[in-house]
Amino acid sequence: MLDEHDHDVAIELTPDSVGRKRISIYQPEQSGLIFPEIPEFKNFEEERTYRKQHLVAACRAFAMHGFDYGFAGHLTIRDPERPELYWTNPMCVHFSQVRMSNLILADHKGDVVEGKYAINRAGFVLHAAVHDEYPDVMAMCHAHTVYGTAWCATGRPLDMISQDAAAFYNSHAVIGASAGAVAVEKESGSSVAKQIGRNRGVLHQNHGLLTCSRHSIDDAAFWFIALERACKQQLLVEATGIKPETISEKTAKYSREHVGSDYIGWLHFQTLYSHIAATQPDMFE
Ligand SMILES: [Zn+2]
Repeated sequence: MLDEHDHDVAIELTPDSVGRKRISIYQPEQSGLIFPEIPEFKNFEEERTYRKQHLVAACRAFAMHGFDYGFAGHLTIRDPERPELYWTNPMCVHFSQVRMSNLILADHKGDVVEGKYAINRAGFVLHAAVHDEYPDVMAMCHAHTVYGTAWCATGRPLDMISQDAAAFYNSHAVIGASAGAVAVEKESGSSVAKQIGRNRGVLHQNHGLLTCSRHSIDDAAFWFIALERACKQQLLVEATGIKPETISEKTAKYSREHVGSDYIGWLHFQTLYSHIAATQPDMFE
Protein backbone atom coordinates (compact mmCIF):
# COMPACT_ATOMS: atom_id res chain seq x y z
CA MET A 1 0.00 0.00 0.00
CA LEU A 2 1.32 3.43 -0.92
CA ASP A 3 1.19 6.15 1.66
CA GLU A 4 1.48 9.90 1.12
CA HIS A 5 5.28 9.76 1.28
CA ASP A 6 5.57 7.02 -1.31
CA HIS A 7 4.67 8.96 -4.46
CA ASP A 8 8.39 9.12 -5.17
CA VAL A 9 8.45 5.37 -5.81
CA ALA A 10 5.16 5.09 -7.75
CA ILE A 11 5.48 3.98 -11.38
CA GLU A 12 3.03 4.12 -14.29
CA LEU A 13 2.23 0.69 -15.67
CA THR A 14 1.24 0.46 -19.31
CA PRO A 15 -1.59 -1.96 -20.18
CA ASP A 16 -0.71 -5.22 -21.94
CA SER A 17 -0.94 -5.67 -25.70
CA VAL A 18 -4.69 -6.41 -25.56
CA GLY A 19 -5.36 -3.44 -23.30
CA ARG A 20 -5.68 -5.29 -19.99
CA LYS A 21 -4.69 -3.33 -16.90
CA ARG A 22 -1.49 -4.55 -15.23
CA ILE A 23 -0.99 -4.31 -11.48
CA SER A 24 2.67 -5.31 -11.46
CA ILE A 25 5.79 -4.78 -13.54
CA TYR A 26 6.10 -8.57 -13.59
CA GLN A 27 2.89 -9.09 -15.55
CA PRO A 28 3.87 -9.55 -19.20
CA GLU A 29 3.08 -6.74 -21.62
CA GLN A 30 2.77 -9.32 -24.40
CA SER A 31 -0.59 -11.14 -24.21
CA GLY A 32 -1.07 -14.87 -24.81
CA LEU A 33 1.95 -16.05 -22.84
CA ILE A 34 1.69 -18.68 -20.12
CA PHE A 35 1.66 -16.80 -16.84
CA PRO A 36 -0.19 -17.40 -13.55
CA GLU A 37 -3.53 -15.62 -13.26
CA ILE A 38 -5.65 -15.07 -10.15
CA PRO A 39 -8.79 -17.07 -11.03
CA GLU A 40 -12.33 -15.75 -11.00
CA PHE A 41 -14.78 -17.96 -9.16
CA LYS A 42 -18.33 -18.79 -10.20
CA ASN A 43 -19.42 -19.67 -6.67
CA PHE A 44 -18.24 -20.12 -3.09
CA GLU A 45 -17.64 -23.83 -3.64
CA GLU A 46 -15.04 -23.16 -6.33
CA GLU A 47 -13.38 -20.50 -4.25
CA ARG A 48 -13.36 -22.72 -1.15
CA THR A 49 -11.69 -25.55 -3.09
CA TYR A 50 -9.06 -23.14 -4.42
CA ARG A 51 -8.32 -21.75 -0.96
CA LYS A 52 -8.08 -25.23 0.58
CA GLN A 53 -5.79 -26.52 -2.18
CA HIS A 54 -3.50 -23.54 -1.73
CA LEU A 55 -3.52 -24.01 2.07
CA VAL A 56 -2.47 -27.64 1.60
CA ALA A 57 0.29 -26.55 -0.79
CA ALA A 58 1.43 -23.91 1.71
CA CYS A 59 1.74 -26.59 4.41
CA ARG A 60 3.73 -28.78 2.03
CA ALA A 61 5.93 -25.86 1.04
CA PHE A 62 6.66 -25.41 4.77
CA ALA A 63 7.64 -29.11 4.94
CA MET A 64 9.96 -28.65 1.94
CA HIS A 65 11.64 -25.76 3.73
CA GLY A 66 12.07 -27.76 6.95
CA PHE A 67 9.68 -25.58 8.97
CA ASP A 68 8.18 -28.52 10.89
CA TYR A 69 8.87 -28.86 14.63
CA GLY A 70 6.72 -31.58 16.14
CA PHE A 71 3.17 -30.34 16.20
CA ALA A 72 4.14 -26.65 16.25
CA GLY A 73 3.10 -24.47 13.35
CA HIS A 74 -0.25 -23.52 11.94
CA LEU A 75 -1.62 -21.85 8.86
CA THR A 76 -5.11 -20.43 8.41
CA ILE A 77 -7.30 -19.10 5.63
CA ARG A 78 -10.83 -17.76 6.00
CA ASP A 79 -13.73 -19.58 4.42
CA PRO A 80 -15.11 -17.46 1.52
CA GLU A 81 -18.77 -18.01 2.39
CA ARG A 82 -18.50 -17.96 6.18
CA PRO A 83 -15.57 -15.62 6.88
CA GLU A 84 -16.02 -16.08 10.63
CA LEU A 85 -14.67 -19.62 10.12
CA TYR A 86 -11.20 -20.54 9.02
CA TRP A 87 -9.52 -23.58 7.47
CA THR A 88 -6.37 -24.80 9.16
CA ASN A 89 -3.97 -27.73 9.26
CA PRO A 90 -4.80 -30.58 11.65
CA MET A 91 -2.81 -30.91 14.88
CA CYS A 92 -0.08 -33.58 15.01
CA VAL A 93 -0.09 -34.13 11.24
CA HIS A 94 3.27 -33.41 9.60
CA PHE A 95 3.15 -30.51 7.13
CA SER A 96 4.10 -32.98 4.37
CA GLN A 97 1.02 -35.11 5.13
CA VAL A 98 -1.57 -32.33 5.06
CA ARG A 99 -4.11 -32.98 2.30
CA MET A 100 -7.57 -31.78 1.25
CA SER A 101 -9.33 -34.47 3.30
CA ASN A 102 -7.64 -33.78 6.64
CA LEU A 103 -7.98 -29.99 6.77
CA ILE A 104 -10.22 -28.73 9.55
CA LEU A 105 -12.64 -25.84 9.67
CA ALA A 106 -12.76 -24.03 13.02
CA ASP A 107 -14.68 -21.18 14.61
CA HIS A 108 -13.25 -18.36 16.72
CA LYS A 109 -13.89 -20.28 19.93
CA GLY A 110 -11.53 -22.99 18.70
CA ASP A 111 -14.30 -25.51 18.07
CA VAL A 112 -13.83 -27.72 15.03
CA VAL A 113 -17.00 -27.46 12.94
CA GLU A 114 -15.81 -29.68 10.07
CA GLY A 115 -13.13 -32.38 9.96
CA LYS A 116 -12.02 -35.23 12.20
CA TYR A 117 -8.78 -33.90 13.64
CA ALA A 118 -8.05 -31.80 16.71
CA ILE A 119 -7.00 -28.16 16.47
CA ASN A 120 -3.75 -26.71 17.86
CA ARG A 121 -4.82 -24.65 20.88
CA ALA A 122 -1.92 -22.17 20.64
CA GLY A 123 -2.68 -21.72 16.97
CA PHE A 124 -6.29 -21.04 17.71
CA VAL A 125 -5.55 -18.31 20.27
CA LEU A 126 -3.12 -16.43 18.04
CA HIS A 127 -4.98 -16.79 14.77
CA ALA A 128 -8.46 -16.18 16.20
CA ALA A 129 -7.20 -13.03 17.92
CA VAL A 130 -5.78 -11.66 14.66
CA HIS A 131 -8.80 -12.66 12.59
CA ASP A 132 -11.06 -11.06 15.25
CA GLU A 133 -9.06 -7.85 15.45
CA TYR A 134 -8.75 -7.41 11.68
CA PRO A 135 -11.74 -8.70 9.70
CA ASP A 136 -9.84 -8.03 6.45
CA VAL A 137 -6.94 -10.33 7.35
CA MET A 138 -7.45 -13.39 5.16
CA ALA A 139 -4.62 -15.68 6.08
CA MET A 140 -1.89 -16.24 8.64
CA CYS A 141 1.15 -18.44 9.09
CA HIS A 142 3.22 -19.34 12.10
CA ALA A 143 5.99 -21.85 12.67
CA HIS A 144 8.99 -22.39 14.93
CA THR A 145 11.79 -22.08 12.38
CA VAL A 146 15.50 -22.26 13.17
CA TYR A 147 16.75 -18.95 11.79
CA GLY A 148 13.62 -16.93 12.51
CA THR A 149 13.51 -18.00 16.13
CA ALA A 150 17.26 -17.43 16.48
CA TRP A 151 17.06 -13.89 15.09
CA CYS A 152 13.95 -13.20 17.19
CA ALA A 153 16.07 -13.76 20.31
CA THR A 154 18.07 -10.61 19.49
CA GLY A 155 14.95 -8.47 19.87
CA ARG A 156 16.11 -6.47 16.82
CA PRO A 157 14.21 -5.72 13.62
CA LEU A 158 15.78 -6.69 10.29
CA ASP A 159 18.29 -4.37 8.64
CA MET A 160 17.63 -3.55 5.00
CA ILE A 161 20.56 -5.59 3.70
CA SER A 162 18.89 -6.93 0.54
CA GLN A 163 16.05 -6.42 -1.90
CA ASP A 164 14.42 -9.48 -0.29
CA ALA A 165 14.56 -7.92 3.17
CA ALA A 166 13.07 -4.72 1.74
CA ALA A 167 9.72 -6.49 1.30
CA PHE A 168 9.53 -6.02 5.07
CA TYR A 169 10.56 -2.36 5.05
CA ASN A 170 8.32 -0.57 7.57
CA SER A 171 6.19 -3.69 7.53
CA HIS A 172 7.60 -5.90 10.22
CA ALA A 173 7.80 -5.60 13.98
CA VAL A 174 9.51 -7.25 16.90
CA ILE A 175 7.12 -8.09 19.69
CA GLY A 176 8.59 -8.52 23.11
CA ALA A 177 5.26 -8.79 24.95
CA SER A 178 4.67 -12.27 26.34
CA ALA A 179 8.05 -13.14 24.86
CA GLY A 180 8.86 -16.79 25.10
CA ALA A 181 5.61 -17.72 26.82
CA VAL A 182 3.59 -20.33 25.00
CA ALA A 183 0.79 -18.31 23.48
CA VAL A 184 -2.16 -20.15 24.95
CA GLU A 185 -3.33 -17.23 27.07
CA LYS A 186 -5.97 -15.01 25.54
CA GLU A 187 -4.18 -11.78 26.61
CA SER A 188 -1.00 -12.93 24.91
CA GLY A 189 -2.97 -13.61 21.74
CA SER A 190 -4.61 -10.20 21.61
CA SER A 191 -1.46 -8.12 22.30
CA VAL A 192 0.35 -9.97 19.54
CA ALA A 193 -2.70 -9.72 17.28
CA LYS A 194 -2.69 -5.90 17.26
CA GLN A 195 0.89 -5.86 15.98
CA ILE A 196 0.47 -8.65 13.47
CA GLY A 197 -2.39 -6.99 11.64
CA ARG A 198 -0.37 -3.80 11.13
CA ASN A 199 2.58 -5.64 9.61
CA ARG A 200 3.37 -8.17 6.93
CA GLY A 201 5.60 -10.04 9.34
CA VAL A 202 6.13 -10.23 13.07
CA LEU A 203 9.18 -11.45 14.96
CA HIS A 204 7.83 -12.68 18.27
CA GLN A 205 10.80 -12.48 20.59
CA ASN A 206 11.98 -15.84 21.94
CA HIS A 207 9.20 -17.56 20.03
CA GLY A 208 9.10 -17.40 16.24
CA LEU A 209 7.80 -15.76 13.09
CA LEU A 210 4.29 -14.87 12.04
CA THR A 211 2.97 -13.47 8.79
CA CYS A 212 -0.47 -12.36 7.76
CA SER A 213 -2.09 -11.38 4.49
CA ARG A 214 -5.11 -9.44 3.32
CA HIS A 215 -4.70 -11.16 -0.07
CA SER A 216 -4.29 -14.94 0.14
CA ILE A 217 -2.69 -17.88 1.91
CA ASP A 218 -0.22 -17.92 -0.99
CA ASP A 219 0.91 -14.41 -0.08
CA ALA A 220 1.14 -15.15 3.67
CA ALA A 221 3.06 -18.39 3.05
CA PHE A 222 5.51 -16.92 0.55
CA TRP A 223 6.39 -13.98 2.78
CA PHE A 224 6.80 -16.35 5.71
CA ILE A 225 9.40 -18.27 3.68
CA ALA A 226 10.97 -14.94 2.73
CA LEU A 227 11.02 -13.72 6.35
CA GLU A 228 12.77 -16.89 7.53
CA ARG A 229 15.27 -16.44 4.70
CA ALA A 230 15.83 -12.78 5.61
CA CYS A 231 16.53 -13.81 9.22
CA LYS A 232 19.03 -16.42 7.98
CA GLN A 233 20.76 -13.86 5.76
CA GLN A 234 20.94 -11.36 8.60
CA LEU A 235 22.47 -13.99 10.93
CA LEU A 236 25.05 -14.91 8.26
CA VAL A 237 26.04 -11.29 7.82
CA GLU A 238 26.21 -10.71 11.59
CA ALA A 239 28.44 -13.78 11.92
CA THR A 240 31.09 -12.19 9.71
CA GLY A 241 31.44 -9.31 12.16
CA ILE A 242 31.54 -6.93 9.19
CA LYS A 243 29.06 -4.05 9.27
CA PRO A 244 26.86 -4.52 6.21
CA GLU A 245 26.06 -1.84 3.65
CA THR A 246 22.34 -1.24 3.78
CA ILE A 247 20.06 -0.08 0.98
CA SER A 248 18.62 3.42 0.96
CA GLU A 249 15.18 4.26 2.28
CA LYS A 250 13.98 5.11 -1.23
CA THR A 251 15.24 1.83 -2.70
CA ALA A 252 13.73 -0.10 0.20
CA LYS A 253 10.37 1.61 -0.40
CA TYR A 254 10.57 0.95 -4.13
CA SER A 255 11.34 -2.72 -3.52
CA ARG A 256 8.49 -3.10 -1.06
CA GLU A 257 5.95 -1.50 -3.39
CA HIS A 258 7.00 -3.18 -6.64
CA VAL A 259 8.73 -6.45 -5.83
CA GLY A 260 7.36 -6.97 -2.35
CA SER A 261 3.61 -6.45 -2.74
CA ASP A 262 0.79 -8.84 -1.79
CA TYR A 263 0.37 -9.70 -5.46
CA ILE A 264 4.09 -10.49 -5.79
CA GLY A 265 3.86 -12.75 -2.72
CA TRP A 266 0.98 -14.57 -4.42
CA LEU A 267 2.91 -14.73 -7.72
CA HIS A 268 6.09 -16.10 -6.13
CA PHE A 269 4.03 -18.80 -4.45
CA GLN A 270 2.58 -20.03 -7.77
CA THR A 271 6.05 -21.40 -8.59
CA LEU A 272 5.88 -23.54 -5.46
CA TYR A 273 2.22 -24.41 -6.00
CA SER A 274 2.72 -25.80 -9.49
CA HIS A 275 5.78 -27.79 -8.37
CA ILE A 276 3.93 -29.31 -5.39
CA ALA A 277 0.76 -30.02 -7.40
CA ALA A 278 2.83 -31.80 -10.08
CA THR A 279 5.04 -33.83 -7.74
CA GLN A 280 2.70 -34.53 -4.81
CA PRO A 281 -0.71 -35.35 -6.33
CA ASP A 282 -1.83 -36.92 -3.02
CA MET A 283 -2.29 -33.36 -1.76
CA PHE A 284 -5.65 -33.39 -3.61
CA GLU A 285 -6.92 -36.54 -1.83
ZN1 LIG B 1 4.37 -20.90 18.39
